[in-house]
Amino acid sequence: MPQMQPAAQPQPTIDGGGAPLAPAAAPPGAAIEPWLQIDALIDRALAPIAEKIIAGKRLSAADGMALFETRDIHGLAMLANAIRQARHGRTAYYNINRHINYSNICALSCKFCEFHRKRGEDGAYEYSHEHIFNLASQAAAAGATELHIVGGLHPWLPFPWYLNLLEQLRARHPQLHLKCFTAIEIDHFSRIARLPVRDVLMALKQAGLGSMPGGGAEVFDDRVHDQVFKGKLRSDGWLNIHQTAHELGIRTNATILYGHVETRAERVEHLIKLRDLQDRAPGFQCIIPLSFIPDGSELAHLPGPTGLEDLKMLAISRLMLDNFAHVKAFWIMQSMKLSQVSLNFGVDDLDGTVVWYDITKREGGAGNKHQEQTVENIKRLVVEAGFIPVERDTLYRRVIRSRQGWCVPADQPAAAEDPP
Ligand code: SF4
Repeated sequence: MPQMQPAAQPQPTIDGGGAPLAPAAAPPGAAIEPWLQIDALIDRALAPIAEKIIAGKRLSAADGMALFETRDIHGLAMLANAIRQARHGRTAYYNINRHINYSNICALSCKFCEFHRKRGEDGAYEYSHEHIFNLASQAAAAGATELHIVGGLHPWLPFPWYLNLLEQLRARHPQLHLKCFTAIEIDHFSRIARLPVRDVLMALKQAGLGSMPGGGAEVFDDRVHDQVFKGKLRSDGWLNIHQTAHELGIRTNATILYGHVETRAERVEHLIKLRDLQDRAPGFQCIIPLSFIPDGSELAHLPGPTGLEDLKMLAISRLMLDNFAHVKAFWIMQSMKLSQVSLNFGVDDLDGTVVWYDITKREGGAGNKHQEQTVENIKRLVVEAGFIPVERDTLYRRVIRSRQGWCVPADQPAAAEDPP
C-alpha cells in the first residue's frame, strides 16, 4: 500500500524540484513491434511510416499528410495504438475535476466562440470570489483533485483579482491542484498589469498556480488566425508563453482546435511546432485535440468535423507527437461515445468528471451547461473498451482513495509512463 500523503499537496513543478522535464522519449521499437503488423496494412502507403515507427524515427510533415489522406482507418488505428500500448499498456486515465469558467465577458470576439459576451449583453456573467470559493468547496467535497479555471479576457478585472483568487483557493483547499488560465489570459494579464510574461507567471505560481491548461492555441497559422480569431495572440506568442512557463517549472497542456477553416496541412504544421517546442523546452503533459463545435458561433454554417476526422486527428496527434506522453480525448468536444472508441486510436486519457462547462456543448448548447460524467460511467466505458481505468492527478500520478480521502504514492515520478 503506498504511503498516504498529507492532504496538502506540494506545489507542483516539473519534477517536484523545478528542474526541466526530460522529453517524453518515443518508446523503443521492440516495445512497439508486437502491436504493429505491417502486412495487415491495407493502404501500402502506410508501410514506410510503420517502418519508421518501428525504427524509432520521427515522422515528417509528408508522413502526417499521408496519415490524414489514408482511407485505411484500421491501419491508422493500429499505428497509433502500437505507440499507445508501448507507452501505457492497457491503462486509460481519468481524473475527478471541476471546471470553473469565472466569466464569459471578453474583450475579443473570436468567430468560433459561442462563449464570449460583451458587458451588459444578455447572458454576460462574472463570478465573485465567494461564488468561486463555494464551487471549490463543492468540488473538494465531491473528491476532486483539480480545479480547471479559465474565462474570457475580462476588460476591467485587475491582475490582483486573479492573484487573490489563487491565494485564497490555495489557503482554503491546499489539496486541490489549480490548473488555471490559458496563454491568452496570461498575455492579457501581462498587458493589464504592465508586467513581462515571466513576472506574471512567477506571481501566479507564487499565489498557487499549479499548471496551465492548453487552450487558446487554436491553429498556429497566420491565415487561419486572421480569418477566425483576429486580435488574439499569434502562434509565436502562445509558444513563447508556454516555453516561459516550462522554464519556470510550470507544466502545461497543448491543444489544437480543428475542423473549421484550417487545412490538414496547417494542422500538421501546428503539431510539428508543438513537437519542436517540447524538444526545446519540455513541459507539455498532453495534447488535447479539440473538435470544433459550430453551434452558436459565427461559424455555425460550417459542418464541423466528422467522427472519422475526429478519430484521425487523435490518432495522428499520437503519431506525430513522439515526445508527448499523453493524448487526451476531451469528451465534451468529441462526445463520450467517440472518446470511448478513441482509446483504440492512440488516446490514453479521457479527462474527467468536469461537472459544469460553460464554453460549449455538443448538443443543445444554449442554456444549461451542466456536463458531468460519473466515475462509475467513465470506468464502465473504459472497461468495455478493453482498458484498465486509472485515476490520475493533474500530473498523471496515480491517485489512491481510502475512507480518509485521497493521496498519491509519495515516490511516484510525475508524468510516469506505464509499463506495457
Ligand atoms: S475564444 Fe476566448 S478570447 Fe476568443 S472570444 Fe472566446 S473567450 Fe474571448
